[in-house]
Amino acid sequence: MTAPGLSQSRLLGSLPKEERERLERVSAVVELRQGDVLVSRGAPIEAAYFPLTAVTSSVVELPEGRTIEVGLMGGEGFVGLSLVHGTKRSSSTVIVQVPGSAVKIGSDDFIREVVAADGSLKLFLSRYADAFFELSTQVTACNGSHADEQRLARWLLLVQDRVWSNDFPLAPEFIGSMLGVHLGRSIAALTALKSAGAITYDYVAVHVLDRDRLLGASCRCYQSMVTTLDEVFRPHSAA
Ligand SMILES: [Zn+2]
Repeated sequence: MTAPGLSQSRLLGSLPKEERERLERVSAVVELRQGDVLVSRGAPIEAAYFPLTAVTSSVVELPEGRTIEVGLMGGEGFVGLSLVHGTKRSSSTVIVQVPGSAVKIGSDDFIREVVAADGSLKLFLSRYADAFFELSTQVTACNGSHADEQRLARWLLLVQDRVWSNDFPLAPEFIGSMLGVHLGRSIAALTALKSAGAITYDYVAVHVLDRDRLLGASCRCYQSMVTTLDEVFRPHSAA
C-alpha cells in the first residue's frame, strides 16, 4: 500500500509543485485516533493539520456537558484556521471524528512557510477559512430547524464524501455528540434511515447501503454545503 501523500489533500494537491515540495520539508504524515483533540478553544494552536483520510469536527459545548458539531473537515480543508491570520490562539475546539492520516505542520513553520510566504496556499486557505465560516452558519441553521434523521443523512453524506468508503467507524453515542442529541434520539435517527433502506448500523459502525436513498432522506443543506465548498476550488480570475 502506498503511503498517503500531500496530494491526497485537496488543498495541498492544488498547489504548484515547487510550493508543495517546500511544504513537504516541514511537514509529517501522522495517524489520528477518533476523539483526539487537535486544537482547543482559547488554547494555543501547536500545529495545523491537513486531513488525508481522517475527518475532523469543530464542536461547541452545550449546557449539560453535551457537544454539537458546527463544522466538519476532511481532505478539502485544514485544522488551525486562525493561523491564516497569524493568530496562534484557536477560536474553536476540533476533534478527530473518523480516524485516519493527516499532514501535520508546526505553527511556526506554517506561519513562516505559508502565511509569510504569501503564495498560492495562503490564497486557498483564506478562501477556505471564509467558506468554513459560511458552512458553520449553515450547519447551525440546519441544527436548529431540520429533523434529526435529515441532519443525520446530511452529516453521513458529508462524511462519506471525505472517507471514500461506505463504512465508517462511528458509534451511536459519538453520532449523538455530533448532532447534539442524547443517545435515544441518535438511535431513533439511525433506525429511521435504516428503515428507509439507506444504511445499516451497529454499536461501532455505520454502513451506507444506498447513497441515493441517503440523499433523498437529507435536507437540502447537504447540496448547499457542497456548493459552498466547491467555490473554494473554482478557478478565480486575477482581475
Ligand atoms: Zn438541514
